[in-house]
Amino acid sequence: MKKVAIVGWRGMVGSVLMERMTQEGDLNKIDASLFSTSLKGEKNVWHKECSDTILDSNSIEQLKEMDIVLTCQGGDYTNDVLPKLRATGWNGFWIDAASAMRMDPNATIVLDPVNRDHIDRAINDGKKDFVGGNCTVSLMLLALGGLFKADLIEWVSSHTYQAASGAGAQNMIELLEQSHFLTQKYMESRDPAKAALDYEKLVTEASKSSDLPKDNFGQPLALSLLPWIDIKMENGQSREEWKAQVEANKILNTQTIIPIDGTCVRVASLRCHSQAFTMKLKKDVDMKTLEELVGSHNDWVELVPNEKEETVEKLTPKNVTGTLKIPVGRMRKMNMGGQFLNAFTVGDQLLWGAAEPLRRTLNIVLNS
Ligand code: NAP
Repeated sequence: MKKVAIVGWRGMVGSVLMERMTQEGDLNKIDASLFSTSLKGEKNVWHKECSDTILDSNSIEQLKEMDIVLTCQGGDYTNDVLPKLRATGWNGFWIDAASAMRMDPNATIVLDPVNRDHIDRAINDGKKDFVGGNCTVSLMLLALGGLFKADLIEWVSSHTYQAASGAGAQNMIELLEQSHFLTQKYMESRDPAKAALDYEKLVTEASKSSDLPKDNFGQPLALSLLPWIDIKMENGQSREEWKAQVEANKILNTQTIIPIDGTCVRVASLRCHSQAFTMKLKKDVDMKTLEELVGSHNDWVELVPNEKEETVEKLTPKNVTGTLKIPVGRMRKMNMGGQFLNAFTVGDQLLWGAAEPLRRTLNIVLNS
């Protein structure tokens, strides 16, 4: 059995990865060891299929004994550890959730329902670095895969509504703390004599209080939103916005770049990223054909009719969280003309947006 290091298994992505690997019996196919920076040396009481002791994520000596490293620890970790590990001559597979390596020419961004052929070719060519795509990019390509495959998309503008857990475990907990802080102010002041506007003023004032927990987001996210994710690029995009075009085109292996751009927004949902798309098609195609292309692309995409009741029931984080479903709805032609298509999708950014492509790549590598 291949020796596999699982690094970052305690984090948001890592926890979901462990859940999925347990559900699918993946841990029984490998000799897995858990690695951690903070729990190294402790007895493993979390995942009985893995090594008895938690190993040290920063120990090159321990990592180089592994055939495969599967990491959800983050980009700083990858930038620090991978070069040191490769410098020892280690030639194992590195499968990573972080963005650090994605645009490296030797790394393959993995999303097998879309680019299985690239993954197979990379393995055959002896490539060893495989990286999951940005969560919104992977979710967009699964949702609109049928239109990209049919070469119908001239450009896409994607506006995102991204959950707090997309920023990591500490941030998601901070959203809960902020919500508690603000709701408590409301509960303490409840009075039948008060008008709704009184509560709004009280809670808005509380959200400006220095007592509101905001070490991670830096601002209130609860009952609000933050229209900026990650650092600023030279062209004024945020890095999250920049990833859409570069990563999607790399995954699709396009010969001519398909422009993709929009605004990425953090919203106060716990889990799942939603996206609104405006697309310009290369030609005017009837809605029935477009819906068939979208709905038949992969096993997870689900077409939601453009009707209010089904939309508010199915096209929501509540319906999608914890599942591999990729519902796509609000599909309609726009006022700008027959080549302009509107759509909306929701996907679990911890599953198809992060853990699932890694788990599936591990299996592809094991079977290669
Ligand atoms: P995370 O939740 O912040 O976890 C990263 C590490 O933080 C854990 O492995 C753990 O390492 C440590 N940690 C500290 N406090 C913790 C706590 N209270 N609970 C759990 N872990 C804690 O990061 P993540 O969101 O999983 O992201 C990991 C990588 O995946 C990043 O590169 C990220 O960009 C990428 N990614 C994330 C998402 C997403 O939706 N979150 C989606 C796609 C890609 P130790 O055990 O060593 O202490």
